[in-house]
Amino acid sequence: MSQPTPAARRALPPAHEILATTLAQELIEQRGRPAVTAAVRAVLDTLRAELLAGALPAERDALRTVAVARLQQQVMSTRPAGLRRVINATGVVLHTNLGRAPLGETALAAVTEACRGYAAVEYDLARGARGHRDALVAPLANAVFGGDDAVVVNNCAAAVLLAATALAAGREVVVSRGELVEIGGGFRVPDVIASCGARLVEVGTTNKTRAADYERALGPDTGAILVVHRSNFAMVGFTAQPTLPELAALARARGVPLLVDLGSGAGEDTRALGLRTREPLSRECVAEGADLVMVSGDKLLGGPQAGIIVGGSVWVGRLRAHPLMRALRPGRLVLAALEATLRAHADGRAARDVPAVALLARPAAELRALAETLLATLVAGGLPDYVKTSLTATEARVGGGTLPLEVLASWAVRVDGVAPDALAAALRAGDRPVVGRGFDGALHLDVRSVLPWEVGDLAMAVLAALHQTVANGARPEHASGA
Ligand SMILES: *Cc1c(COP(=O)(O)O)cnc(C)c1O
Repeated sequence: MSQPTPAARRALPPAHEILATTLAQELIEQRGRPAVTAAVRAVLDTLRAELLAGALPAERDALRTVAVARLQQQVMSTRPAGLRRVINATGVVLHTNLGRAPLGETALAAVTEACRGYAAVEYDLARGARGHRDALVAPLANAVFGGDDAVVVNNCAAAVLLAATALAAGREVVVSRGELVEIGGGFRVPDVIASCGARLVEVGTTNKTRAADYERALGPDTGAILVVHRSNFAMVGFTAQPTLPELAALARARGVPLLVDLGSGAGEDTRALGLRTREPLSRECVAEGADLVMVSGDKLLGGPQAGIIVGGSVWVGRLRAHPLMRALRPGRLVLAALEATLRAHADGRAARDVPAVALLARPAAELRALAETLLATLVAGGLPDYVKTSLTATEARVGGGTLPLEVLASWAVRVDGVAPDALAAALRAGDRPVVGRGFDGALHLDVRSVLPWEVGDLAMAVLAALHQTVANGARPEHASGA
């Protein structure tokens, strides 16, 4: 590659001159200096190449004008860096790709309080000596999920990994063929067992497994019996499986632990929230004889990403003492948010203070009113005349691989008149990104997963995106297949 001629190079304004312009200063306010500096460099690189190619006059003032005009485009076309809050208008409450459970004010306040300075994470303030990390969370976890003791790890996958490794590495783990499932995101039970250095012993068939199948498989090498909850699918028809008390009796007779990978982590019976279906509760599994139960912190519990293992103190103690524990333990951000979330459940405040629980519990009439507010705000904000908006009843989902058969009655604002894909892309690219749901040839903004305080921002984002889509030429007469 050849270099620009000395004259062309002299004509190009230096970066600091562009950065000193009012526009650049405003952009720095909005997006930060590193992003704007990088954009200035990119703009000047392109200008240099165009100068060299003779596509631009080697004239300083003209080049500065072009550079400043392009700077704005360049900055606005790149998204602000970092993990961004988005408005979830998909209707899927526990959307794994969108971070599952939103945290409530009490949990957020707990995180701020525990993380601003130092915190007694592993320090017993009464004794002035080292304490253990689960000391505060364990009693709350036991109140909500049962058991005598608890450990917390980074997620439920880590919980299974820890339990199977600590109790069955180099030995056998007995699992029903009906439970050799994939939970999502590539978490496959047979692979997890293998990665723990344990040997999987499959029993029964896909649809039927009996207590006798387990009994035959138990031997001197058995490390554990593992029951995996079929969180994200349902089996109907000609099926059978032993009850937990039957398995617990077998496990106890052989002196091996009965592990239950429950996943969903409901703190209470979801029918009390107005849902039609329920998940088995951890404390029921413990009461029926499970030695250890593993649940997620960010599914139906509505807390931060975490895995919670509750059960008998001897088994929990073995997990806590295992070297892997050091690698799987969460930091104080998670512990603080989890403690606050568990406390809300333990105190019966979950439907008020845990947003995911509140979102699931909202009756359809309330959602209809929320969708009406959204629609009215859009109309008042000035919709382009070719855009049609309407209210429509929808079927929302719990998500997070829990309660797969539950259909949550919900309401959405349906947007017609623009290509749904173009509108969805503009919504994702906005200052406050929005993820909606496209079906039936139109984009839908389902309010089941929208937090009440987000509705104003959602309306603003939709109006901005609609104007953006026009600028992109995605009006109906241009749109294909809309
Ligand atoms: C969701 C789920 C997991 C994984 O939980 P994460 O917290 O996402 O790691 C494991 N087991 C079961 C049965 C699940 O439902």
